[in-house]
Amino acid sequence: MLKITPYLGILVLIVSIGGLWYPALGYFMLLIFAAIFLSSPFRGRWFCGNLCPRGSLVDFGVSKISKKRKIPDAFRSLWVRLPIFFLMMGFMGYRVASTIGGLNTFEKIGMIFVMMCLVTTSIAVLLGTFLSPRAWCSFCPMGTAQRFIGGNKYQLKLEKDKCVNCKKCEKVCPMQLKICQTGANPDCIKCGRCVSICPRDALHF
Ligand code: SF4
Ligand code: SF4
Ligand code: SF4
Repeated sequence: MLKITPYLGILVLIVSIGGLWYPALGYFMLLIFAAIFLSSPFRGRWFCGNLCPRGSLVDFGVSKISKKRKIPDAFRSLWVRLPIFFLMMGFMGYRVASTIGGLNTFEKIGMIFVMMCLVTTSIAVLLGTFLSPRAWCSFCPMGTAQRFIGGNKYQLKLEKDKCVNCKKCEKVCPMQLKICQTGANPDCIKCGRCVSICPRDALHF
């Protein structure tokens, strides 16, 4: 992760709450979309583990009060994730398209982004508190998009001959991935926690 990663969570609070008074803040979401679509073809879900303000909020804020339970397997299922992706993107596209051309279009579209950010952040915080900090990130539409765009890029590599199966890597993985069994996973967010903690230097990108 980057040195600034722990401090980015404040941005999602500024957009979600400040945006209710200043809808223009919602356009910050366009910057997020641009960063996602520029980084994911080369680094998969790297954005999620290093630059996403919501990811930072749940990792470094919500995790302090989280129950830290197991993330349900259904959350990772594409049968769940794809309908959520198409429903949310379709709904947002419909709201934006039906707003264009009316009065105060700039503010109204900004408010659509603000509400989208507020609703999804609220769900992420609730799931993060009562389940696991990264529960939302298991099926977040933007995470799913990055998985499909670059899930096979910049993958984690496990040197099996060095591994002593201590599972320290899995204990620190915020996405609760089975690193020792499956190694590379398209939902790895490239946070690097497993690499740092491995006592045998068996993991690298
Ligand atoms: S899955 Fe979504 S909320 Fe989580 S870090 Fe990635 S883009 Fe952000
Ligand atoms: S922390 Fe390293 S040695 Fe331990 S299980 Fe993970 S990869 Fe293997
Ligand atoms: S496998 Fe390692 S780099 Fe990937 S999300 Fe888990 S801890 Fe982070």
